[in-house]
Amino acid sequence: MERTLSIIKPDAVERNLIGNIIKRFEDAGIKIVAMKLLKLSKAQAEAFYAVHKERPFYGELTDYMSSGPCVPMILEGEGVILKNREIMGATDPKEAAAGTIRADLAIDKEKNSVHGSDAPETAAQEIAFFFTEYELA
Ligand code: ATP
Ligand code: MG
Repeated sequence: MERTLSIIKPDAVERNLIGNIIKRFEDAGIKIVAMKLLKLSKAQAEAFYAVHKERPFYGELTDYMSSGPCVPMILEGEGVILKNREIMGATDPKEAAAGTIRADLAIDKEKNSVHGSDAPETAAQEIAFFFTEYELA
């Protein structure tokens, strides 16, 4: 079964939105097969977002992602990589479709409440970044 990495980002944990976000995944029939709450160090945030190293917002993004606790989760279901990105909505909440997590809850293009892997290869890498095989349900 397909799996993807989701992260409830620090802005959403800070505003007590963990339950709100998880309910959307469960209501969509998606299974949570692993989950933890942790605070990334600046170096860990930099490693996770290494693909964005050359982007102008890299410093700010990694400061924000290491500013408070986040909730990485492995989601499982048929077509879950795409399904998760549909439930999240567009990166910028101003462009996100009504009813998506980012349209309903995100603050701005950076503090956009959730992360979701964008392809099978990145899903596998990002899952391995946070979880060992012993942590899987
Ligand atoms: P994610 O990878 O977190 O699921 P995404 O694929 O929609 O989001 P990316 O383009 O991969 O967006 O950017 C990664 C993250 O970097 C975004 O989710 C957001 O937090 C931040 N980001 C993206 N663009 C900007 C920007 N122009 N200014 C500030 N932060 C940004
Ligand atoms: Mg992305």
